[in-house]
Amino acid sequence: MTQVKLHGLSKSFAGKEQVNAVQDLNLEIDSGKITALLGPSGCGKTTTLKMIAGLLQPTAGDITFDGKSVLGTPPERRGAAMVFQNYLLFPYMSVGDNVSFGLRMRHMDKELIRKKVAEILELVKLPGYEERRPKQLSGGQQQRVALARALIIEPEVLLLDEPISNLDAHLRDEMRDLILTIQRQTGITTIFVTHDQEEAVVLADRIALMFHGRLQQFDSPNTFYERPASVSIARFFGGVNFLPGVKRGAQVQTALGLLNVNLQEIADGPVVVTIRPENIGLGNDGENAVPGRILSHVYVGTHTRFRVRSGEHEFEIVADAASVERFRDGQTLSLQLSRDRIWLVTPED
Ligand code: ADP
Ligand code: MG
Repeated sequence: MTQVKLHGLSKSFAGKEQVNAVQDLNLEIDSGKITALLGPSGCGKTTTLKMIAGLLQPTAGDITFDGKSVLGTPPERRGAAMVFQNYLLFPYMSVGDNVSFGLRMRHMDKELIRKKVAEILELVKLPGYEERRPKQLSGGQQQRVALARALIIEPEVLLLDEPISNLDAHLRDEMRDLILTIQRQTGITTIFVTHDQEEAVVLADRIALMFHGRLQQFDSPNTFYERPASVSIARFFGGVNFLPGVKRGAQVQTALGLLNVNLQEIADGPVVVTIRPENIGLGNDGENAVPGRILSHVYVGTHTRFRVRSGEHEFEIVADAASVERFRDGQTLSLQLSRDRIWLVTPED
């Protein structure tokens, strides 16, 4: 198992206007785990992955595998294999030849190659597909061929560019399970790129969130929901309620009154109170209860979603499915913003 570290990694592209695609990226990627590089389109994810693979040279900084710089090592000798977003299979070659490409380059014995190809096609759930051509396969199958081609060289580091985003909804779970199974079986250090926070959350042990080429937060998936480092991060993960206020000690003065908050490392002064829709106690009294009036609701089967007005503020609240029968539109009731569910972040301009 290999530990990958990025040290002040930067990449700029020269042109009419210089693009600083990746800026001063420092990351310690867990060995033998799955790490997601997450962020909106154009934030530098693919560029980072290509630098790790050795397909792009950084402008500044270093990349180490188990403490040793790999910048001078060509891609095929880094022990990293990359699966591209658009698969990049050789269209004129059979599936078997596509998969065995890396081994044939290494001049491995033909019979051994045949055996390994069969094994790896079994692993990606395409047994007996050796003779097919890529164009005879669905997108999901082509992607599994690309995965097999990467895995057959037994890399130490597996790099996947948007492995799930291009697939139809019903194939996503399948691919996700396959990646998880293979990763847990082989223990291979896996880094994958995605712009979809849900995909990162379900697949990754840790998520590195990037905006504009810069690392914003590197944490376990649940931390992004419970303790986002900024308003933008909370917004990217979606669904959060924001309430501006002014913090003094363990209290925040807001337009809805004074809220008690838990001790948190954030300076007194202007703050934004964040609370997730599923964490507001609809109809609950007690500490930090504020009055509200239900504006509308949507029943979604597994839960019910409410819009509730409180003063000048509107909250998005997610409650259990049965609450559709307990509450009605127009009803006034109290909302509890429990201090254990509140997270404060610094305002952004
Ligand atoms: P992501 O994968 O997060 O969508 P990329 O890493 O592909 O983003 O690109 C990051 C930024 O670098 C974008 O602004 C993109 O247009 C730019 N970029 C990527 N590759 C090149 C290139 N070869 N030449 C010039 N600009 C590039
Ligand atoms: Mg990309």
